[in-house]
This record gives sequence, C-alpha cells and structure tokens, in this order.
Amino acid sequence: MDRLKEGVWQANLYLWKNRLVYGTQGNVSGIDRDKGRIYIKPSGVAYEHLKKEMIAEVDIDGSSTAGSKMKPSVDTPHHIFLYKNLPEIGGVCHTHSKFITVFSVLNIPVPVLTTGHADVFGREIPVSRYVDNVGDNIGKELLRVYQKTGCNAIILGRHGLFSMGETPERSALYALMAEYCAEVSYYAIMAGENIGRKVQPMADEEISKWYDRYHSARYGQK
Ligand SMILES: [Zn+2]
Repeated sequence: MDRLKEGVWQANLYLWKNRLVYGTQGNVSGIDRDKGRIYIKPSGVAYEHLKKEMIAEVDIDGSSTAGSKMKPSVDTPHHIFLYKNLPEIGGVCHTHSKFITVFSVLNIPVPVLTTGHADVFGREIPVSRYVDNVGDNIGKELLRVYQKTGCNAIILGRHGLFSMGETPERSALYALMAEYCAEVSYYAIMAGENIGRKVQPMADEEISKWYDRYHSARYGQK
C-alpha cells in the first residue's frame, strides 16, 4: 500500500521537477484495484510543499477514506471515471504543460515528426473537443477519444493533457514525453514556415517499426 502512495507522491514531484505543472495545477493518481483505493494529489497544495503524508486517499466512489487527512484534487472524478472504464490502467496524470496547451488551443493533434515520438506513442497525440468539468463530461470525452485512437496521451481541447499508464510513474513519463513531442513539433512547424518548407509527418509503416521495437522485449533492461 505504502509503495503505491510513495509512487504517486514521487510522480507528482516528477511533474514539478520537469516543469510540466504551474502553481497548484496538475495531478497524478494511482489505483490499488484489490483494495479499491485511489491515491491522488491533494487539492490546492503547491508542489514545493507536497509531502508524502499529504497524498489524499479515496475509495472508488470518490469518498475520502478514514486515513486521508487532505481533500483530494478537484479532478478526482475524471481519474475515477477512467479507472472504472479502463481496467488495464494503474495511473492517471493531468497537466497544463505549455506546448501541449498551445496545441489544445490551436485544436490540432501533435503529428509524428520524430522517431522519439513514434517510439513512445506510435501515433499522433489526438485532441479532444472542448468540454466543461461538470459531472463526467471530461471523463466521457477522454474515453471516446481513447477508444477511437488508442493513444494513452490525449490533449483536452482548450485545456491540457491527460495521460494513462500501467503505473502512476508511467502516466507521468507519458506527460513528459507528450510535452517533448509538442515542443519539437511546434518549433519544427514554425521553422518550416519561415523557410518555406512544409513539415511532413513520418510514414505510417515507419512509425510502426519504431513503436514495435520500443514496445518489444528487446528494449530496456530486464
Ligand atoms: Zn486541468
């Protein structure tokens, strides 16, 4: 139990260390499906003051557990909606990172321009429609885009990013990589405009090659 709480705490700090979040915005959560328990960043706490014991704990219906001292993030219902509908995920991350937010405002997906993007996501990072945060509006829109695209990072229109992973740490890593892809794309597209060269996405068959290698047993450590 404490390992998951530690992981959620570390993943939240990771967002801050990597400048993916500003002020008190953004959050990472993790779920223990056996216990039906979710750990998430507490509401309104600045990252520099975030201590492990402040991580909020809720049950699958969003009620704070007896052991939780802090109020959970106001985004908790969106995390819970994703956990309930996507049994394969163990962590959810939400940021308003800069370049991702630029694409959310422009309402265009981040195209696959580099092997680094192809490795991690294997497809463009999609943009959802704008939705308000009433009820399950955000969760339903994220689920719709996820089921259509299969991308575990989704740009929410006029808002920011939601990313999902097997663990809270993975979901935060996807947020970092999505921001990297958005920044590279932004500069490549702008520079291309300046020199009269239209930037083209990679070919689908090349994207698949990189993605498959990265997600095979050959990559990384045992
Ligand atoms: Zn937000």
